[in-house]
Amino acid sequence: MADRDTICALASGNLPSAIAMIRVSGPAASQLSHRLFDKSLVPRQATLVRLFGTDKEQIDEAVATFFQGPASFTGEDVLEISVHGGPSIVEATLNSLCEDEGVRLADPGEFTRRAVEAGKYDLVEAEAIADLIEATTEAQRRQALQQLKGVTSSVLDGWRKDLLEALALLEVAVDFPDEEDAPDHTHNPVIERLERVAAAFAEVLSDMAIGEQVRDGFRVALVGEPNVGKSSLLNRLAGRDAAIVTDIPGTTRDTIEVRLNVGGYLVILTDTAGLRETADLVEQEGVRRANLAAEDADIVLHVRAADRPVASADAVSWGGRTIDVLNKSDLIAGGAPNVSRETLQVSATSNEGVERLIDRLSHELSTLASKAPPPVITRTRHRLALQAAQHSINDALRGLHTGMGGELVAEDVRRAAQALTGLLGGIGVEEVLGEIFSSFCIGK
Ligand code: GDP
Repeated sequence: MADRDTICALASGNLPSAIAMIRVSGPAASQLSHRLFDKSLVPRQATLVRLFGTDKEQIDEAVATFFQGPASFTGEDVLEISVHGGPSIVEATLNSLCEDEGVRLADPGEFTRRAVEAGKYDLVEAEAIADLIEATTEAQRRQALQQLKGVTSSVLDGWRKDLLEALALLEVAVDFPDEEDAPDHTHNPVIERLERVAAAFAEVLSDMAIGEQVRDGFRVALVGEPNVGKSSLLNRLAGRDAAIVTDIPGTTRDTIEVRLNVGGYLVILTDTAGLRETADLVEQEGVRRANLAAEDADIVLHVRAADRPVASADAVSWGGRTIDVLNKSDLIAGGAPNVSRETLQVSATSNEGVERLIDRLSHELSTLASKAPPPVITRTRHRLALQAAQHSINDALRGLHTGMGGELVAEDVRRAAQALTGLLGGIGVEEVLGEIFSSFCIGK
């Protein structure tokens, strides 16, 4: 698009920094490089240049690289300028760039959006770029990189192709009902293809949402009676004072969350109000939320105190995996009697056993993650699109089994294929684009 704006933005992190990188993309990039620098650039060759502002005053020494479209990230002409990372240098550079007509600051995610529009990435891969930037743990990084490399996209595209083949076979039967190659036997390969895709969808949709959990965090809840040391353990695990610790039972009236990196997995650790019968209304609400947090959790840390008789909450069980933790082991010399080998004895006060607890948690997380096949779904958007496609495939199969007209079945198959195309960013995704790219950082 020749009349397109040229966009520019700081692409590197917070200022001041040793070096800051400013990125420019669009039809004016080449002409800007002539105005801004004392040397002309050879494409793809980093060049040390003097960088000039609007009044021809030198702003800085810079290293500039020109990428001629379409061989660039966005598919357009791109200019990357590395300057010293002082705020005034960056500001002067951006001001100088924006002096030219048709050059403006980029919106969040606009570079990547242009890359998608130029067909450099599909939408799932573009989401992976955002995930990669935001990855704080190893598992998140690994997953995002797989997705960026197109592993997920090729799986999705394979299913889409199967559906398009089924559609083509159905259309042959519809368009040429009397032709020799179009009678009923075309229905069998159709059913075979649809059933294969339906089975694959069913597997992916029941994958326990591991992909989403790796991206958004596994939920771990600290649960137990008041005063057994849940908040103290949370603070130990978090390494800072995130929860208020007092010895008056019932202080943690609501749930408190901290995000932790446990063995390379992102964990959202929730401290819940103590589980016990109570007349206090506020606390009752806290207890209700505690139960909810425990029900929702992937792993429950069920905490008891070593200096107290076995608590009634022992009888409670939750959906996720439970790790039994016996806290305050420092109060019982020689360890608590009659404790099962599975129970972890720890002391939030002395830190005894806390490392073992972290190891156990990390082991449980990797067991959870390794049980699932490599994730195809990493966001709710993916799950919804696959569910919609699955729904349409089931309608199509039902239609085929009940002798419904070929046109109607074809329509269902077409709808399923479109759901996958939309997921990859092919058609009808304008509104989705806006939503996805607004969550990107500027300069990406
Ligand atoms: P919560 O109600 O389960 O969250 O319990 P808290 O974390 O608020 O702790 C209740 C009380 O037990 C506080 O006075 C803590 O200092 C104390 N406490 C917590 N963990 C330990 C521990 O491992 N050993 C000892 N001796 N006291 C602890």
